[in-house]
Amino acid sequence: MEDKAVILVVEDEKKIADIVKLYLEREGLQPLMAGSGEEAIRLLKHGPDLVVLDLMLPGLQGEELCGIIRQNSDIPIIMLTAKTGEEDIIKGLGLGADDYVTKPFSPGELLARIKAQLRRHKRPYTRMSFNKGELVIDVLKREVMHSGSVLSLTPSEFGILVSLAERPGRVLSRLQLVNMVQGYDFEGYERTIDAHVKNLRQKIEDDPKNPTFIKTIYGVGYKFIGAKDEE
Ligand code: CA
Repeated sequence: MEDKAVILVVEDEKKIADIVKLYLEREGLQPLMAGSGEEAIRLLKHGPDLVVLDLMLPGLQGEELCGIIRQNSDIPIIMLTAKTGEEDIIKGLGLGADDYVTKPFSPGELLARIKAQLRRHKRPYTRMSFNKGELVIDVLKREVMHSGSVLSLTPSEFGILVSLAERPGRVLSRLQLVNMVQGYDFEGYERTIDAHVKNLRQKIEDDPKNPTFIKTIYGVGYKFIGAKDEE
């Protein structure tokens, strides 16, 4: 079962906070309510999936709080603002907010924005299993198992594998792969992707000449063809 997304709502106006809370609960989301920025900072340790942040708060202001959240997190932030001036909005987005809703707002609209941000920031799969458990990728642990044995992959190989496996059936070009694996200490350029894939196949394929996981799409790139197991 999928975990409920936790939404931290920072809003000092009780009437608004109550309505937002009601709408979130009705939508199957888990609200975490804070009446001030200070309270919000305490609640951040619960690891919310998204923050709805009112700009005008008592004490610590929304702008400051936004900056504090951004210092150590990239979770989506939707700002609630009564300031409709374009400059204020641009400033809000410049502080690292992902979206904003101007007051007065309809709860339905806020909810639509929340869902759009959650979709965009969907947490990556933490564990993926393919071909009836033949290949298991644990993204958090950075561990790959083939037929029950842990494989030793280089960061580049791991990055390429995860990038492909997260998008089964989709063809990725070498350049797309280079961009996707930047976060995995990837060294090299488009042409080195082929060498990495070759090494990767030696490790994850029973017969590298007839791959069952990473297929070459000539002239384009690669495609992951493993069948994802049911959770
Ligand atoms: Ca307020």
